[in-house]
Amino acid sequence: MGAFGPPAEAPREALWIGVLASQGGFAAHLRALDSLGADARAVRDPRDLEGLDGLVIPGGESTTISKAIARDGLEAPIHKLVEAGGALLGTCAGMILCDREHLGLIDATARRNAWGRQLASFEADLEVSGLGDEPVRAVFIRAPWIESHGEGVEVLAAVDGHPVVVREGRVLCCAFHPELTDDSRLHALLMALATAAREERRASSGPATRGR
Ligand code: GLN
Repeated sequence: MGAFGPPAEAPREALWIGVLASQGGFAAHLRALDSLGADARAVRDPRDLEGLDGLVIPGGESTTISKAIARDGLEAPIHKLVEAGGALLGTCAGMILCDREHLGLIDATARRNAWGRQLASFEADLEVSGLGDEPVRAVFIRAPWIESHGEGVEVLAAVDGHPVVVREGRVLCCAFHPELTDDSRLHALLMALATAAREERRASSGPATRGR
């Protein structure tokens, strides 16, 4: 119970989920989202963010992605997307970019390359709260961990006491690369958060706008 699979009741129309394509491993995220039935699109400029239900900030090199976000004027529209009810998944470098010192989308501080040289890359079977009993095969590549976080941040998984999957509201961050395995439960969780937010928006905008 409590497992997030592909949305059981398929939404009436596909969710629009963007993947920031400035740098890094965005193509595999697009494929994972596509296979779950989302309308997945690469995001390179602010117009690509319009109308999205959710966004993935992929792994890569956080300094490079951060500069690209500034260069392409994406910071304000990403904030706007989340404020308007969009869901967000930041993975690896994407988790770093969501933290207090970067986009400030989550009340947490990530530590870059946290596992040191010897553990620069490793795999682990992780129990992730809310994703069911089956562990997630997590591929860590020069990964961060969450060094500190506020009370509103829920830790969904940890390795040696270091949080590696966290969530605050509709913002979900993981330190590993879910796009590198066949297990798309984290993408499904992002889509579930986006669907719930969309339903809320529809409910609050009342019957007058339904079916438009
Ligand atoms: N080490 C990278 C950084 O600090 C993140 C690595 C990754 O995304 N796989 O930006």
